Amino acid sequence: MKHTEHTHKRVALVTGANKGIGHEVARGLAQRGLFVLLGARDATLGEAAAAALQAQGLEARFIEVDLSRASTLTAAAERIGAEVGRLDVLVNNAGISDARDGAPSATDIDAVRRIFDTNFFGTLAVTQAMLRLLRRSAAGRIVNVSSELGSLTLNADPQSKYAAYKFLGYSASKAAVNMLTVQLAAELRATGIKVNAVNPGFTATDLNHHRGTQTLAEGAAAALQYALIDNEGPSGGFFGADGPLAW
Ligand code: NAP
Repeated sequence: MKHTEHTHKRVALVTGANKGIGHEVARGLAQRGLFVLLGARDATLGEAAAAALQAQGLEARFIEVDLSRASTLTAAAERIGAEVGRLDVLVNNAGISDARDGAPSATDIDAVRRIFDTNFFGTLAVTQAMLRLLRRSAAGRIVNVSSELGSLTLNADPQSKYAAYKFLGYSASKAAVNMLTVQLAAELRATGIKVNAVNPGFTATDLNHHRGTQTLAEGAAAALQYALIDNEGPSGGFFGADGPLAW
């Protein structure tokens, strides 16, 4: 990852890129000509994920990014700053669910805190750590991987297909990510950095024990689309692959 090698390519960081939707987003960005840093908390898994993309002829490197360990975020930002000098795309993909999460009356409060630590506080921490590098981009893009389960509108609708899914910790953490999206987009309006939230759709991954009905390619589509929008594209929105979603 030498500065001179990558000044000509757009540079992306995808968190939680060792597997699942994040890995597929990383592959898609690399296939579209970006130099992709695969953020992962486990070095062995991260190196293997990078090697898998390199074996397909793609430019990708592992970088340690653990949302729960601030020192890794500072170190990652310093390394990217020293070796590349800027960041063009940040995909905040890493996230968790917890089997002890549930409806408001019964959910385990420690599980709710744990989910928030990763999905909201972790996403906020990565974003703050990378903002200085994104400001050096000619066209910075931040994509927050949210969920329809975080939509207040859908949660309030008894006819929603998700009406039966009450996971307070997970859903509230994604609603909080949506708020981060709206406020950060407004704060950065004058900078050219665009910030959007995306819903991958119900995708077969470890997160849902592969019960999801979409393929990884389908699940990665919205994140890819909004990571690559041009300067005329939206900022401060919530989107699925088929278009805007209700907050
Ligand atoms: P996944 O296969 O379980 O992948 C989650 C990724 O996040 C893994 O790489 C995991 O790393 C990483 N991660 C978790 N905690 C982390 C931490 N503290 N620091 C760094 N990385 C961490 O799940 P997925 O379905 O691809 O989920 C990706 C995103 O999509 C999540 O934000 C999820 O909420 C969202 N989403 C998924 C669906 C769906 O149907 N799958 C639907 C809507 C939204 P390890 O391998 O080390 O655990």
